Formats: sequence, C-alpha cells, structure tokens
Amino acid sequence: MIRYHIAYPDLANLIETEKPGWLQRAAERTERFGRTGRYDESSAIWSEVKAVYMRLQGAGKCAFCERKLESETFGKGEQDVEHFRPKGKVKQWPIPPALNQAGIQATKVPSDNKGYFLLAYHPFNYAASCKPCNSSLKGNYFPIKGRYDLTGKDPIDMAVEEPFLIYPIGDFDAAPEDLIRFHGVSPQPVARAGFQRQRALVVIDFFKLDDAIQRKNLIRERALVIVALFPQLQKIANGASGQELNDAQAIVDGFTSEKAPHTNCARSFVRLFQSDHAEASRIFNLVVAFISSSS
Ligand SMILES: [Zn+2]
Repeated sequence: MIRYHIAYPDLANLIETEKPGWLQRAAERTERFGRTGRYDESSAIWSEVKAVYMRLQGAGKCAFCERKLESETFGKGEQDVEHFRPKGKVKQWPIPPALNQAGIQATKVPSDNKGYFLLAYHPFNYAASCKPCNSSLKGNYFPIKGRYDLTGKDPIDMAVEEPFLIYPIGDFDAAPEDLIRFHGVSPQPVARAGFQRQRALVVIDFFKLDDAIQRKNLIRERALVIVALFPQLQKIANGASGQELNDAQAIVDGFTSEKAPHTNCARSFVRLFQSDHAEASRIFNLVVAFISSSS
C-alpha cells in the first residue's frame, strides 16, 4: 500500500466535476439514513464516482494490494468502490492465532450494530479496490483497537476508534509506507513494537499480502518488478552514462512512481539496493528462481 495525497476540498471538486450534483444527492441520502438510523436504499449511487478513485489511485490500482487493473473504461468492471468502514452491519473479524500470540486483540463489535450508515456516502470512506481485496477479504469487517463510533459522520474525526486497517487516501491516517515496507517480495512491519506494528501485521494478514499460496500471482507480480529493477539499478551503480543511464533511470522512476503497480515493493527494493547491495543481489537471484519455478 501507499498513500494517495488529496485534501477533502480537492476530492469533493473531482467528484463534482465527474458527476455534477452527486454530493448533494449523497447528502440527501445520508440525511435520510440519519433519520431512520440505518443504511437502507433500493439503489446506490457510489459507482457513479468510481472513476475518480481509480484515477486518484495511480490510474487503476487496487488501494490495498497495489495490483494494477485495466484502465478506466474496462477497469470499472474489475474494481469495486470499497466502503472502508462498512455501511451495513459490521462483522467481528476473527483474529488469527498468530496475531493473537503477537498480542493483538480487537474490540468486540456491538452485536446489534447497524454499521457506519452515516458514512455510506462519505468521499473519505471510499477506495477503489480489486474484487479479491474487497469482496473476498474485506467484506463487512472493520477490526479496531479503540472504541466503535458507529454514528460517526466524518472519518477524519474518528481516530478514537484506532482502526487496524489503514486508509490510504488523504492525509489523515498514517502513511502506509511508514507502517509497511517490503523485503524483497515480502511485506514487513516497519515498527518493532506498539500499535503501528500491530496495524501492519493486521493489514498484511487481513489482505493476505504475504500469502504465496492464495495470492501467488500477487507475489509473482512483485517478483517481476524486482526482476525489472535490478539490472537497471546495476547499470546506474556501475557508472552507466548517456542514453544508457537515461534509460535505466527512466525505468527505475517508472517502477517507483505511484502510478506503477507495487510501488511500495519497488521503492523498498531500491532502498535495499542502495543500503545492502549483497542482500539485494541475493533477493534478485531468489526472485529469478521463483519466477522460473512458477511459470
Ligand atoms: Zn487488491
């Protein structure tokens, strides 16, 4: 994961430009949910602004696993507008034993909860996400460490919940790259202890970001990033000049831009190459072997 910077007024402007009147219609629906105390409607309108999030998130990347899906016209079919805080009843996420052993405990979800019905149409409650991350894994889970604020109206003011999951849009949550970085193809917590480490561990487990069996193709895509980067980093380190240097740098810049798939992995590998060349070489060789074995 990486962060996508945007201030609320700018996000609202993008939405209004994409679909004039949408924010007003959304506000009217939210006002109705507030009166009835639940999310309930026959048809939803958040898909109308899906493209705004796709553009914002590196032109079609999944907010959570950083896979790059098809561009706007056809990509809409393989991306969901994911509600970060569930609009309907929140389900208790079963903490896996390994995370329990790491001292992670989630707040019990109120059994009679109606979900975050006032956030069904909040622009800072959306992210574009691939179907495995949204439909198969995220669902209606929202594990937190703090106190549930199910009638909250603005995610910016809901830090008291201490969510385990990281919201990557805007600047009000932690930057994902401050919490999770990669060693080779494997995501790792940055912090050695504390809540930041717990968040990283939960996100990695929740979205199966390090699951080489169930998300083999995700891991393979990261391996391809490293295979592409390593020779270019070598050329630069070995003193390439002229066109060769320009080409190598352009490839590195492209793979580490926020529009690239697996930006966090790519940036982490560049840092590793610069700080520990021997380890970067070892990983490159492992990754080459992994790709040939999984082809
Ligand atoms: Zn995904």
